Amino acid sequence: MKKQVVILGGGVGGTLVANLLAKKLKANEADIIVIDRTGDHVYQPGFLYVPFGWEEPANLARPEESLLYPRVKLIRDTVAVVDVKSRRVATEKHGEIPYDFLVLATGSHVHPEEVPGLAEASHHFYTAKAAMELRAALEKFKGGRVVVGVAGVPYKCPPAPLEFAFMFDWVLRQKGIRQKTELHYISPLPRVFPIESVATVTAPMLEERGYHIHTFFNVESVDPGKKELVSLEGETIPFDLLVLVPPHKGADVVTRSALAESGGWVPTDRHTLKVEGPDGIYAIGDATNLPISKSGAAAHFEGEIVAGNIVQELRGEKPSHQYNGHVMCFLESGNNRATILNFDYEHPPKPPAPSVLWHMGKLVMNKSYWYMVPKGRLPG
Ligand SMILES: Cc1cc2nc3c(=O)[nH]c(=O)nc-3n(C[C@H](O)[C@H](O)[C@H](O)COP(=O)(O)OP(=O)(O)OC[C@H]3O[C@@H](n4cnc5c(N)ncnc54)[C@H](O)[C@@H]3O)c2cc1C
Repeated sequence: MKKQVVILGGGVGGTLVANLLAKKLKANEADIIVIDRTGDHVYQPGFLYVPFGWEEPANLARPEESLLYPRVKLIRDTVAVVDVKSRRVATEKHGEIPYDFLVLATGSHVHPEEVPGLAEASHHFYTAKAAMELRAALEKFKGGRVVVGVAGVPYKCPPAPLEFAFMFDWVLRQKGIRQKTELHYISPLPRVFPIESVATVTAPMLEERGYHIHTFFNVESVDPGKKELVSLEGETIPFDLLVLVPPHKGADVVTRSALAESGGWVPTDRHTLKVEGPDGIYAIGDATNLPISKSGAAAHFEGEIVAGNIVQELRGEKPSHQYNGHVMCFLESGNNRATILNFDYEHPPKPPAPSVLWHMGKLVMNKSYWYMVPKGRLPG
């Protein structure tokens, strides 16, 4: 009998799985449905360039329909809850939709309100709106004390705050106001990057650029009036401009459906990518609790595993595809240079010296993304 595969979320992971399933499954084997609350697919890595005026939010979103193969049905709606017993998802406008297989691809989301004062006092570049507000603040900035960093772990794209820090220093030098600016970098971890081999390379890069580094700095609160940042560890840093990655959580729907652990992350088998507990549910991308970078790159490498295992299960076979934790992403270091982080569960990254080559690689990825990644044309 024809089965129904429902994919919750039309971002990187959801779109890719839908298209891979469309390629692998015959039309009489399954209907494939993507449910997304916006119906737009957003290329979030481009937000990094928006504050500097090098990219526009309008270029970073495309209608989800334009990226899906014709046999995939898109429902533009918000899923309120998943009922694993009846194998149905309840939508706000389209009623209940049954599934044989469900893919949770609901991403991760910023929650500045988690830290008192953060939303009022701090900028970030993790949404289009916030990135444009930061652009306006940078245009007005004439010098002072700037604090860049991270206000909570885990957060998506671990390199992004470092990339911003490196590029910001470079921009200040170009504008001739670097001498009038004191730069600080804060991290809640004992180092500047979650993975030690990357922190070992990037901490000296921050120091070379004149950043004061504060590790073990867990942001407790921000005082918008006094313009002070206070840590749980008892440190206070005054600032003129604050750029912090806000705390992240998983999507509300997975928490509401009792499918998530603390923080809203879905307990997921690190190899099969099956959700632990209920039958017929897989998770991909930022939604999972996997011990790897929340990144489009991880979602990309997970796509073949999730699609391959669903195809096998649907055909009555034992799922045999195994994710090895592979992630590959670029890290911009300013001055038109970047390095690359290529790693998996067993092999930590060994970033090469930043070069123009890797920067060009990132620019090529930014442009070719739309034709390659969601369509399943970039080998996983
Ligand atoms: C500034 C920045 C820079 C980045 N740079 C990089 C980079 O260089 N390299 C890299 O690999 N990654 C990067 N990332 C991270 C990358 O964008 C994410 O990891 C990736 O988008 C995750 O894919 P996903 O499919 O898990 O979730 P998303 O792409 O976020 O998609 C989730 C989808 O779920 C939908 N959704 C959520 N809840 C519901 C609901 N209840 N009902 C219906 N739909 C719902 C949303 O509408 C959304 O479309 C960056 C991110 C940011 C913010």
